[in-house]
Amino acid sequence: MSDVPPDALRRVRVAVEAPQHSGLTGPLDYLGPQDLTPGTLVHVTLGRRDVMGLVWDDLPEGQDVPGEDRLPESELRPVGEALDALPPLSDRWRRLLDFAANYYQRSVGELALAVLPPQLRELDAKQLQARLKKLDKADAAAGKAAADAASPILPERPALSAQQQAALDAIDALAATEAPQPALLWGLTGSGKTEIYLRAAEAALARGQQVLVLVPEINLTPQLEARFAERFVGHSIVSLHSALTPAQRLRHWLAAHLGRAQLVLGTRLAVFASLPRLGLIVVDEEHDPSYKQQDGARYSARDLAVYRGHLERVPVVLGSATPSLESWQHALGGRYRRIDLTERIGGGALPRVRLFDMNRLERKKGVTTALSVPLLDALRKRLDRGEQSLVFLNRRGYAPVLHCDQCNWKSDCPHCSAHQVFHREDRTLRCHHCGVSTRVPRACPSCGNPDIAPLGRGTERLEEQLAAALPGARVARIDADTTRLKGSLESQLAAVHDGDVDILVGTQMVAKGHDFRRITLVAAVNPDGALFSSDFRAPERLFSLLMQAGGRAGRDAAQAAASEMWIQTWYPEHALYQSLQKHDYEAFAASQLAERMSAGLPPFAHLALVRAEGRSVEAARDFLTAAQEAAQALPLSLGLLLYPPVPMSIARVADVERFQMLIEAGSRAQLQRFLRAWLPDLHVLKRRQKGLTRWAVDVDPLAI
Ligand code: ADP
Ligand code: ZN
Ligand code: ZN
Repeated sequence: MSDVPPDALRRVRVAVEAPQHSGLTGPLDYLGPQDLTPGTLVHVTLGRRDVMGLVWDDLPEGQDVPGEDRLPESELRPVGEALDALPPLSDRWRRLLDFAANYYQRSVGELALAVLPPQLRELDAKQLQARLKKLDKADAAAGKAAADAASPILPERPALSAQQQAALDAIDALAATEAPQPALLWGLTGSGKTEIYLRAAEAALARGQQVLVLVPEINLTPQLEARFAERFVGHSIVSLHSALTPAQRLRHWLAAHLGRAQLVLGTRLAVFASLPRLGLIVVDEEHDPSYKQQDGARYSARDLAVYRGHLERVPVVLGSATPSLESWQHALGGRYRRIDLTERIGGGALPRVRLFDMNRLERKKGVTTALSVPLLDALRKRLDRGEQSLVFLNRRGYAPVLHCDQCNWKSDCPHCSAHQVFHREDRTLRCHHCGVSTRVPRACPSCGNPDIAPLGRGTERLEEQLAAALPGARVARIDADTTRLKGSLESQLAAVHDGDVDILVGTQMVAKGHDFRRITLVAAVNPDGALFSSDFRAPERLFSLLMQAGGRAGRDAAQAAASEMWIQTWYPEHALYQSLQKHDYEAFAASQLAERMSAGLPPFAHLALVRAEGRSVEAARDFLTAAQEAAQALPLSLGLLLYPPVPMSIARVADVERFQMLIEAGSRAQLQRFLRAWLPDLHVLKRRQKGLTRWAVDVDPLAI
């Protein structure tokens, strides 16, 4: 090394945001100074643009990028300005990104740049320095304030229950091992899981480490943040999610990266936060589908959290009342350490589940069946006692479709294979898939019949029917329509907490996480749809949603005995409801796993889904047919199941035709090897297929 002149340039690899369709997957070669450390941000030229890149690791001596010829050094362009005021992103962080890009079949540069704060990419070295200085100043001021408020003594904490203590001991024991096993914390709602997260975090902070806590939804971050802030007074806590302003996001990200933030709370993108002293990862509600990114790199933050824990040798705590069947199977097989919390704190009982058989109702034309007389009686009883009820229906709008019974016209969306939903409040027909909105016609557009009627019911109509059936009751509704404005969800939730609402109507939005103290009745008025879905995960989602919704009731021990969950169903004998009635997740999981095993579905098989979108049915279908032929020509496809291309369940959205093709493999490694060999063919086919707008691969898809 010593005879190399200090200003000599060498070949460096830089990860840049090259779009997936360019076919570039690895970092690109540039010329840079000898001492340019991997993990440093640099400006480089890509084509004619100046872009931000991230210095990546050199390839091991003598190894070339498979399938790519590297340019001779004489043809390489020099790197531009380096943002070396920022400590480099760590080796472990880069290994996480390498893994994720590889596993989800994206380019590492695309993924790495996409998960950095957008503002970081716009800065030059001088601007970055200014930002860092500003941050230093702010921290110095805050540090002084914290010091004035005396050292961060923990406020009073509840004494742990025996079960909680055992759970915490188990996590501490894992943390003390060389390579901690992931823990699956299985506990009912209200069993004190969050308290365990707080205590485990406390232990990590005491070791001088940083803690990463993931939550499924932005809506749930404020209340969790409040709980952590209350417990960890004087500690530095930041949040990371997509609702932050670009400036906040950069500030919070920097606080984590510089090691100043001790606790980082965030949604799925936070799994990529740079944390130099990471000591613990918590994934709350680990079963929640929101952990899966639905476009671009379709990563699972839950799965990446587990990988990151393995990489960094830190404990990962996955918490849920209804774990994903993947995690449950890992626990059964011994890969995860299962930790159980089987009792509600303070002795609160789970609500009694009543399966109300809709077949018993007298059927009269024109009479609404949404609200059976016994359910109305149960609601009335709560009203009289001054207790709250939650009525749950996972469908917003007034009615899913308008219908003319003269000519059978239906309010179909002109651009999608779906109905337009009738929203009564603003008299519109809205498509929930493409967003198109039209005025409600006065008469049937097809035959002129003035008597067009809504069919079925959504939350708007349910709210109206409840108000009519229970005069004097204060009925409120929370769904995506009522919470569009910033701050509206918070104020509506506050009204419920303050007791200004007797009956709350809502979608899954209210089923999750919220700690409503005074609800003693939860009713699901029409949950049957998911029993017969073509998606094999629909029952799993329904079960967890209903368990979670039921968990809203009886949180207050004083009222727990009287709390009930009502399920109005046409199929009361269904195994799912039978398990739900006994709060028996284990039995439900066992029956689902048995079905999955005999059908060769995850977690016993590994799936990838290729989706294609085209301007015509032919374009989308022919692309996948050609892709399938290319797959069959590959020796690596031997032993895989390649399903024929089929239209997606909603085949047309916004005038785009959508097809998908499923690939099933016995092992992850086999699937990975095959995809790596096959995807280059798809890039070639895409260029040839006229009318194909997009295609994408989804590894471990959640919705089929
Ligand atoms: P989960 O996260 O499992 O739903 P939480 O941790 O939120 O449960 O606990 C439910 C309620 O019980 C919360 O109000 C919490 O403050 C309280 N709690 C938790 N652990 C204890 C304890 N050991 N003693 C007293 N109260 C507790
Ligand atoms: Zn008509
Ligand atoms: Zn539409």
